[in-house]
Amino acid sequence: MFKIGFGNDIHRLEVGRKLILGGVPIPSEKGAVGHSDADALLHAITDALLGSLALGDIGSHFSDRDEKWKDADSAVFLRSAIELVRAEQFEIENIDSIITIEQPKIKPYISEIRENVSNVLKISVDRISVKAKTHEGLDSVGLGGAVKAEAVILIGRSN
Ligand code: MG
Repeated sequence: MFKIGFGNDIHRLEVGRKLILGGVPIPSEKGAVGHSDADALLHAITDALLGSLALGDIGSHFSDRDEKWKDADSAVFLRSAIELVRAEQFEIENIDSIITIEQPKIKPYISEIRENVSNVLKISVDRISVKAKTHEGLDSVGLGGAVKAEAVILIGRSN
């Protein structure tokens, strides 16, 4: 039996914040604003995992009003989500994802991001796709005001 999950996320970009995507710090003039470390990719993947088994969303599990999650490493959220999925005897078949940001170019960091997500989820890197694109100067993302991420996940019964 297979199930599918979809997640997305967007964070505002401001000077003076760090830009962390897929757990990898990326040198950038502007970073992402958020309650936790504002890792849009890990948030999208976490939401996709929770969605695959209709377990709610990232906000219902890790409220952005809870001081406990202030500046939190988003890998904590992702690990918690995969534990819930494995507790139901499901395993990830594959993940496809897209990061959309105008600057900086993400391509040089893609392999490191895939490796890091692979380490957090304990699945092989060839099951994880991360793509990067821009919004061609259009809308808030395209004007450099935000970073966006989307992820789709297929999970299958592991026994
Ligand atoms: Mg978020």
